Amino acid sequence: VSTLDPVALRADFPILREQVNGQPLVYLDSGATSQKPQAVIDAEVEFLTRTNSAVHRGAHTLAAEATVLFEDARETVAAFVGAPAEQLVWTHGATEGLNLVAYAIGNATAGRGAPASARFALRPGDEIVVTEIEHHANLIPWQELALRTGAVLRHIPVHDDGTLDLDAAAALIGERTRVVAFTHVSNVLGIVNPVAELVARAKAQGALTVLDACQSAPHLPLDLPALGVDLAAFSGHKMLGPYAIGGLYGRADVLEDLPPFLTGGSMITTVTLDEAEYLPPPQKFEAGTQPVSQAVGLAAAVRYLEGIGMDAVHDHERMLEQRMREGLRQIPGIRLLGDTPDGIDRVALAAFDVEGVHAHDVGQFLDARGVAVRVGHHCAKPLHARFGLTASVRASASVYNTVDDVDVFLDAVSGVRAFFGAGA
Ligand code: PMP
Repeated sequence: VSTLDPVALRADFPILREQVNGQPLVYLDSGATSQKPQAVIDAEVEFLTRTNSAVHRGAHTLAAEATVLFEDARETVAAFVGAPAEQLVWTHGATEGLNLVAYAIGNATAGRGAPASARFALRPGDEIVVTEIEHHANLIPWQELALRTGAVLRHIPVHDDGTLDLDAAAALIGERTRVVAFTHVSNVLGIVNPVAELVARAKAQGALTVLDACQSAPHLPLDLPALGVDLAAFSGHKMLGPYAIGGLYGRADVLEDLPPFLTGGSMITTVTLDEAEYLPPPQKFEAGTQPVSQAVGLAAAVRYLEGIGMDAVHDHERMLEQRMREGLRQIPGIRLLGDTPDGIDRVALAAFDVEGVHAHDVGQFLDARGVAVRVGHHCAKPLHARFGLTASVRASASVYNTVDDVDVFLDAVSGVRAFFGAGA
């Protein structure tokens, strides 16, 4: 197992040489979007400079080269999550991936798709189970699907320490459950959820499982087929890659039987004025012009992460995470969201409330000191409501963060309440 030297890695990330408000940048907002190493920037520039052409069509040389790079990128990114290339659908991000699944199930419910699609159809009273901790991207598409189909949306509650209530999950996931959609790692709590256990419960009822792997893919070794989920979505820009690219992994038979969501060019075999036949997956789900340079950039990001080794990434981030939470616990007036006991796996992300100071004020105070964090509800309003909050401050780290970054952040946070006259 390699160990990770964040000081050496920082040289690969040009933005980390920037000053913010006259201070060296301490970037602790990777949960929102990660920074990009030069290798990713170069891969996109190189593609746009030397190869840029439309893929899967055209007989000219550059089009053929672009197609090879695009499909090689698919293989690289699929392998990163343990899957063969044909089980990875390109999307524009996790939001699109999760909507794709919900809309495809809606299409199956409306009787569209091959006869085998009927296995995904929902009847009124069927249940879709999510959790209380979901990002809105893994909640609202299911609300919409429930509205369209008459299915009932239910949720697994969360304990005060941020772990999911698995007893409640056991009671909730029953014979009417058709879909169980949940996050691998919450973007507010940073806790790694027990995927295998939830998948086993869902499978026992014949329900489809959908994983939001947005906050796990950048931070820990991921083998989606081994986790047993049917479908999983992730976002490139959170894993050192470009914006506007993401992946949707699916089990082969599930992708085969699901009807498409978006339709149009590039996803058909034949079309008449009355009807169309579709290509097999993954192209069936890739209507329209694809984010090609971004796919090439994401493959470079994945190679960069693999060069470090995902075990080393996870170990490094756990060390930062422990230092961050340990430090925050010692600052008076700080309340951590999801402060789990030892022994529960996590990523380097901590959200907290500062007693007597609004999260936005905390964010500005830290920004003036060069420390970039996220403030607000982080697209998880129900979870904040569960903790009696409307907003929190979130610090989230990545491979390029050092112990010094964490210490600068903790030092700044320890001055917040005095500055705003909210106590020592
Ligand atoms: N799920 C989680 C857990 C997230 O953190 C995010 C991004 N904040 C998303 C889904 C949505 O990802 P994107 O906006 O890149 O589509």
